[in-house]
Amino acid sequence: MNQALPRVTYSNIGTDFSGVFGLLQKQLEQDAAAPARAFPNLIGGKPDEAGARYIARSPIDGSEIGSFFEAGQGEVDRAISAASAAFREWGSRPWKERVALVRRVADRLSDHKYEVAAACIREVGKSFGEAMGEVEEAIDLVRYYSDQLEANDGFYRPLSRAVPIEETSDVLRPYGVFAVIVPFNFPVALGIGMLAGALLGGNAVVLKPSPQAGLTGHWLARLCEEAGIPGGVVNLLCGGAEVGQALVDHSGVAGYAFIGSHAVGTRILRSVAAGGYNRPVIIEMGGKNPCYVTASADLDVAAEGVMRSAFGLQGQKCSSCSKVYVDRRVYAEFMDKLVAKSRAIKIGAPRSAATFMGPLINEAAFQRFAQACDQARRDGRIVHGGERLEGGEYDGGFYVAPTIVEGLAAEHRLNKDELFLPFLSVQVFDDLEMAIRDGNDIAYGLTAGAYARDEAELNLFLDKAEAGALYANRASGATTGAWPGVQTFCGWKGSGVAGKGALGPYYVQQFMREQSRTIMRTSAAAE
Ligand code: NAD
Repeated sequence: MNQALPRVTYSNIGTDFSGVFGLLQKQLEQDAAAPARAFPNLIGGKPDEAGARYIARSPIDGSEIGSFFEAGQGEVDRAISAASAAFREWGSRPWKERVALVRRVADRLSDHKYEVAAACIREVGKSFGEAMGEVEEAIDLVRYYSDQLEANDGFYRPLSRAVPIEETSDVLRPYGVFAVIVPFNFPVALGIGMLAGALLGGNAVVLKPSPQAGLTGHWLARLCEEAGIPGGVVNLLCGGAEVGQALVDHSGVAGYAFIGSHAVGTRILRSVAAGGYNRPVIIEMGGKNPCYVTASADLDVAAEGVMRSAFGLQGQKCSSCSKVYVDRRVYAEFMDKLVAKSRAIKIGAPRSAATFMGPLINEAAFQRFAQACDQARRDGRIVHGGERLEGGEYDGGFYVAPTIVEGLAAEHRLNKDELFLPFLSVQVFDDLEMAIRDGNDIAYGLTAGAYARDEAELNLFLDKAEAGALYANRASGATTGAWPGVQTFCGWKGSGVAGKGALGPYYVQQFMREQSRTIMRTSAAAE
């Protein structure tokens, strides 16, 4: 029955999703009625309740999601040794068997998609569209990465011969145990993306979700179990920075996959470099994503796309649009449209499909918001928003108005730092090339967007913008909405390290190391 329902893909915003959202709503109601329970860690295929127990609460209304166990050093040691033991068998399996099992993880996720999307809503405060989009993205990610192994014959290829009797091949091989460290905002798609990359590469995994997202972390471990991934190949440790740091400092880990803030990513890079010998660190970090609206743009499309990217998921996306540069000739008209669209946003507890913005993730995010608004009031002008919402359901969490600010100096910290909030700074420009230069003048380079119908302007944007994912003229999102196999997602500058991104054809290879194998095929080999 559900097969006939459309899939949410972030970009298909005009579609009727009422059937999908009706099922999701039922799932949420069912989950809300269920008693809160304990969610053990998973070590060596067995549930593990060692470590300090903590209760996780929903940012929507403070209700209890369940209790989790903060792993200590002992659990970290045991998880890594369980993963090392499991790796011996998993890493030497034929790649086709690994692909078949990993594909089943995607199938199981597809079977459970409403439960996982509901978990994502409860613990992250996502809207229905964001949650379903994330789960669909996660399914496609696993399948796309699996396709890559098949398309590349398991990353095995014969090479040239230096002499006729020599036979050489090149093969990508696993490293061993990968620690996979996940941020809170896309706990399913990013968690499963790194997990799938590591598993397809033949590695075993210790997965550490964000402390805000243990429930979806549990789902990922459960899906792997249901798919038949052998015990110990995927281990789950809940907890926060200390657990992450213990993984980073552990000599039993052969490689790291991390997505999160620039500060933590940089710290991990330094810690790993200080720890004996260098190991691969696949790191994707934050963004400060600009968008340009020229005088040739369709302003309705531009206002819609900027509003969606700035305020979707409460601005808590690495790809959120945080700065928009507008041509002076259309500034007033664009601002009227943008403010009107922002005013119309439905903010509240995401318990129905109508809600577009839910709560901020926690009090620390709200404090950042309050501070940014104070600075904006002092150094610029708040055109819309700038306050916390109060009364009724708003008192259950940190709900804030989408905030639009103008008049901040180019060098202002609010124009340079990632805020990770529903906070948009608007700048006026007379010269597009100068605007792009200023938009590039940040420590990040994740995404950028443009609205222009003039081909020369579009080409200038494509040529000059310093970011890994560029979008033009999208109503569904100025700078957001990448999809596996459709947009690759590579952080340039301070947003990444590898120069190759997720969601694309060069991702899985990063979880493997290259080996050439040369064999002399006759007795002449001995000469
Ligand atoms: P965060 O950096 O605070 O935490 C990310 C993960 O690292 C969490 O699991 C956390 O517990 C863990 N951690 C914290 N300190 C650690 C340490 N010392 N050692 C090891 N692990 C540690 O990020 P967050 O608030 O969860 O997520 C938001 C950030 O993630 C934003 O900066 C956002 O831009 C970024 N992000 C980037 C992408 C991308 O693809 N580039 C995608 C999503 C989010």
